[in-house]
Amino acid sequence: DFKNKQLALTAWERSRNRETIEYGKRSSLPIKVQRESLPAFKMRQQVIDAVSDNQFLVIIGETGSGKTTQITQYLDEEGFSNSGLIGCTQPRRVAAVSVAKRVSEEIGCRVGEYVGYTIRFEDETSPKTRIKYMTDGMLQREALLDPEMKNYSVVILDEAHERTVATDVLFALLKKAASRRPDLRVIVTSATLDAEKFSNYFLQCPILRIPGKTFPVDVMYAQVPQIDYIESALDTVMEIHINEGCGDILVFLTGQEEIDTCCEVLYERVKTLGDTIQELLILPVYSALPSEVQSKIFEPTPPNCRKVIFATNIAETSITIDGIYYVVDPGFSKVNTYNPRAGMEQLIVSPISQAQANQRKGRAGRTGAGKCYRLYTESAYLNEMIPNTIPEIQRQNLSYTILMLKAMGIHDLLNFEFMDAPPRNSMTSALEDLYNLQALDEDGRLTKTGRLMSQFPMEPALSKVLMESANTGCSDEISTIISMLSVQNVFYRPRDKQQEADSKKARFHHPYGDHLTLLNVYTRWRDENYSKTFCLNNYLHERHLKRAKDVKTQLINIFNKLRLPLSSCRGNVDLIRKTLVSGFFRNAGKRDSQVGYKTITDGTSVSVHPSSALFGKDHDYVIYHSLVLTTREYMSQVTAIDARWLVESAPHFYKVAGAESESRKKAKVVPLHNKFSQNQDSWRLSSIRQTKEK
Ligand code: ADP
Ligand code: MG
Repeated sequence: DFKNKQLALTAWERSRNRETIEYGKRSSLPIKVQRESLPAFKMRQQVIDAVSDNQFLVIIGETGSGKTTQITQYLDEEGFSNSGLIGCTQPRRVAAVSVAKRVSEEIGCRVGEYVGYTIRFEDETSPKTRIKYMTDGMLQREALLDPEMKNYSVVILDEAHERTVATDVLFALLKKAASRRPDLRVIVTSATLDAEKFSNYFLQCPILRIPGKTFPVDVMYAQVPQIDYIESALDTVMEIHINEGCGDILVFLTGQEEIDTCCEVLYERVKTLGDTIQELLILPVYSALPSEVQSKIFEPTPPNCRKVIFATNIAETSITIDGIYYVVDPGFSKVNTYNPRAGMEQLIVSPISQAQANQRKGRAGRTGAGKCYRLYTESAYLNEMIPNTIPEIQRQNLSYTILMLKAMGIHDLLNFEFMDAPPRNSMTSALEDLYNLQALDEDGRLTKTGRLMSQFPMEPALSKVLMESANTGCSDEISTIISMLSVQNVFYRPRDKQQEADSKKARFHHPYGDHLTLLNVYTRWRDENYSKTFCLNNYLHERHLKRAKDVKTQLINIFNKLRLPLSSCRGNVDLIRKTLVSGFFRNAGKRDSQVGYKTITDGTSVSVHPSSALFGKDHDYVIYHSLVLTTREYMSQVTAIDARWLVESAPHFYKVAGAESESRKKAKVVPLHNKFSQNQDSWRLSSIRQTKEK
């Protein structure tokens, strides 16, 4: 018993400290037996035949039936990989890595050899690779160079029900590629029942259904609406643990912070139960966890022990955990939503759809009859939840996607074959964004800058800053800053040592703000020879810094490939800040004596985030990387700027209002309003001439 307690403690503490832990033993059955017990195995021949006979194929099957890990292998075993790669896309980074590792194990090779993966800024493939897992975003980028997908013999668009923007774009790109390449095979797989729609889109292609072995799941609804879903989730877990028979518990939460908190609180509560009750092993799952910790969840639960997993919606379909009998579903997930007012994407906690609720419920019925606790009322389920999740393409900012489509030579966006076309105004606002960044001209054509920007796998504001840095001569510093912005927060702030961590962090603070602070951190780490001790002493996540280093290397590679100059400005902080303004001028705030700051574009009240180096400082003008909505709207990653830079960097976006004679202090920077509109079959900026003349 003591040993179990140790186990519970160490598993949780290790994962909390984000330290690397050793791989545990997986299911003890031989791989062959495991593989052959999966529902997909019974369909093996049918899959092979259908792929041989059809260019397009839709495969539907329950999560865990073997779609992702097995179909690639069947095709490889049957020789489909002789004429090209077998590619399989995943909407999530973690899933791509985790399945590639799993399949490597099954085949008995190291990852990156026969089986590899590619995710942004990380390529684990080699000339030997035959089966390649990747994020849908990476395959979309490959289409830039290779619109016919010549490297591939088969492409599997996996998890198509997630309807990410990249998968949606790939539908159209692959359909087009297949029309030119009769040998190319495209498989669309989905865990839900939208098969007809996919089949209709792909020229009425056949649908294969993998019969799943599922058990009934009892659904329990909350009697009244719950005010605090975290609290009721924890109560429910305790209740299950104390009163219900054996079986593991899966709780769906919305993000890392919630999950970490729940793990800690539950751990404290369980401790109070003492020895009277079975041990409870508490495990977190979210994409930012190191994969070693994540692999913990696949390990069989030790005897006399129950496992509870707190996961994001990554556990809905992307990864399968065996042994779950109880699902606790608060009914929310974080959704990437475009906020047109803020001009950017934000992660908003929103109610899930009925389809998602049922997917979550299904997780409890894979090993035996299970129970699903919905922490919302039946009437909320029936009357308030939308039936299906809205495809991302209909709610996200499309500037990055449109920049890529333009770079592929696809100009006629109206007739691009989207499965569900994005709303017209989201198309125009993306075009406006790109025009404002000077990636498109007034007729919506790609500029030279735009073409170069499209070579960087990142949001256009960032690639614009990179392009500008090549001109201004600070690409070394800017590429560092952008690498640091592209990784998880490098500052580590343990609960019990917050003050110490904060004071260490403050030593890196730059008086002009967070971008230069990030540059400081990276430069100091580099000067210390990328030392681990330096990270430990300064409360920095070494893992995230290392990733920033990798990202920087990749950015430098792209610079070299494009023959763009790499140079350092040797600490010219004005030049660096001005260069940042060239991409982030839209995210500008002006100090307001009443409310802190107001955004210049639309006057929203915003505050400097307490974690910022500029918190409590009073610079007149700032730019920020993003807005974070918690109790109020916070600017995160903030840098002080000179108002003149706004107009200098973006004369097509801002002008100085008020008479020239007024003192500079009084002069106000105000936005111009450029609008794209559509005439017949092309988009044009309509109001620019007028505003310019005013
Ligand atoms: P699907 O794509 O249909 O949801 P998968 O091919 O991902 O199914 O998974 C099939 C089975 O393989 C799962 O039920 C699980 O038992 C096992 N499996 C998948 N990934 C892993 C992993 N990383 N570690 C251990 N087992 C795994
Ligand atoms: Mg899968």
